[in-house]
Amino acid sequence: MSKKRESVLKKNDEINLEITALTSQGSGVGRFNSMAVFVEGTAPGDLIIAHIILVKSNYAVGIIKKILKPSKHRIVCDCGAFSSCGGCSFRHIDYDEELAFKKQRVQDAFSRIGGIDTQVKEILTAGKVERYRNKAQYPVAMTPEGKTLIGFYAKKSHRVIDCRDCLLQPEEFETFLRIVEKWAAQYGVTIYNEKEKKGLLRHIYIRKGFKTGQIMICIVSTSRVVPKIEKLADELISSNVNIKSIVLNVNSEDTNVVLSTDCITLWGSGFIEDELCGLKFKISPLSFFQVNPEGAEILYKKAAEYAALSGEETLLDLYCGTGTIGLSMAKNAKRVIGVEIIPQAIEDAKENAKENGICNAEFFCDDASGAAKRISESGTKIDVIVLDPPRKGCSKDVIEAVTAMNPKRIVYVSCDPATLARDCAEFKKAGFETDEITAVDMFPRTTHVETVALLTYHRQS
Ligand code: SAH
Repeated sequence: MSKKRESVLKKNDEINLEITALTSQGSGVGRFNSMAVFVEGTAPGDLIIAHIILVKSNYAVGIIKKILKPSKHRIVCDCGAFSSCGGCSFRHIDYDEELAFKKQRVQDAFSRIGGIDTQVKEILTAGKVERYRNKAQYPVAMTPEGKTLIGFYAKKSHRVIDCRDCLLQPEEFETFLRIVEKWAAQYGVTIYNEKEKKGLLRHIYIRKGFKTGQIMICIVSTSRVVPKIEKLADELISSNVNIKSIVLNVNSEDTNVVLSTDCITLWGSGFIEDELCGLKFKISPLSFFQVNPEGAEILYKKAAEYAALSGEETLLDLYCGTGTIGLSMAKNAKRVIGVEIIPQAIEDAKENAKENGICNAEFFCDDASGAAKRISESGTKIDVIVLDPPRKGCSKDVIEAVTAMNPKRIVYVSCDPATLARDCAEFKKAGFETDEITAVDMFPRTTHVETVALLTYHRQS
C-alpha cells in the first residue's frame, strides 16, 4: 500500500488539493489519494495547486503554487513577514475560524488522548487580536552586506527576519528599535554574530505595563563595556516619558537563552509596575509576567469561578510562578500556599503579597511533587488545588500526592491541551472527573491555547 502511495506522488509534482483541516501546529492539510499533504499558510476550504517539496512514505509536504478558490475563512494577510517569521500562524484566517479551531483542538485532545467526553464549554477571548503582547525580545543581526536586521527568528531557525513593527506588540516599540539601530551605527557598536561569536549587541528586549503605561528597555550585550551607552539612554529617555527603566543585560555565553542573570540598571528604577486583577505587580527584567494581561485576567476569573472559594478554604497554588493566581484569589480564601521551583519567582511572589497587603499567603520554593507529598503527609487540610504546570504537565508523583490530599476541587490551568488531557485521564483513574472545560485564547494569531478545567471527586458506584 505504501509503495503504491509513493509512486502516486513525487517531489516537484503539482497537484490540485482541497485543504480540509488544520494541524495542531497550524498547517493546513488535505488528502491526495488518501495521503496527507501538509501546506503551510492555507485555510480549511482553500482549493489550491500545491507544489510538492517533500514526499515521505505516509505523508507529503507542499507549498502554495496558486490559490484556485479561497476558503470563506481566508482573509488578506496584513503582515509582510508572515510567510517567513516564526511568530504568528494565523494571519490569513478570520478570527472566528481561529477560535473554532482552538476550541476543537482542546476537545480533540480530551477525547483522543484523555478518553474524556466532557464538552469544552466555550472559548473565551479578550477580543484584542492585535498588539496584545506587553513584551518583545528582538534578536539583532547583520547581513554580509552590512544591513542591520532587527525582528524575529524564522520558523525553526536562528535566521533573523527583519520585522520592526510586529502587529502583536505595542506600536511605540518600533521607535525604540530605530533609536537603538541609529545609535549603534553612529558609535560603531558591533552587532553580535552567532556563528563567529563576535560582536556586542545581541537582543533588544522591551516590556510595557499596559495599565500603568510604564516601559522598560533592556539591551542585551556580550560585554559590560558598551561604547557610548549613556548616549543611547539619553536618546531613549527623551523619546518617551513613560520609559521608567533602562537596563543592560550582559550575556556572553554561547547559548539560545536570551537573558543572563547579570542585569545592570543604566537609568531609572530597574523595574516597572503593572496591575493584574486589581493587584499591583513589580516587574524586573527577569521576572515572569503574563504577556497578555487582558487574556490572563479572563483566565484567572474563570479559574476563580471554578475554585468557588467561600473564605473558609485553604488553597494550594502549585507551580505558582510569581504568585499571580493564588494572590488574585487570596481575598476569598482563608489561607493560600504557593509552591514554585524558581527561587527568584518565590522572592517576587512574597514581595507581591507584601506590596498588596495580603497576609494570608505563604510561598515556598520547592519541587511540586516533593512539596505536594510533604503537605499531604503533614496532614494540612487542603480544600482547593490550582495546578498550572509548564507544557510537560504534571508528573505521576504530583497527581498521586494531589489526589491523596482529597481536595474538594482541582482547578487545572494548562498551556498544552495534550498533556492536560493525559493528566485528566490519570486523575479520572483516582476518581476525579473532569466536570468542566473552558478554553481561553491568550495568544491570538498563534496556535497556542490555554485551558482551564474543573475536576472534582465522584464517588465510585
Ligand atoms: N501560575 C503562574 C506560572 C505558571 S508557569 C502564572 O500564572 O503566572 C509554570 C511554573 O511552574 C513556572 O513558574 C515554572 O518555574 C514552574 N515549575 C516548573 N517545574 C516545576 C516543578 N517541578 N515544581 C514546581 N514548580 C515548577
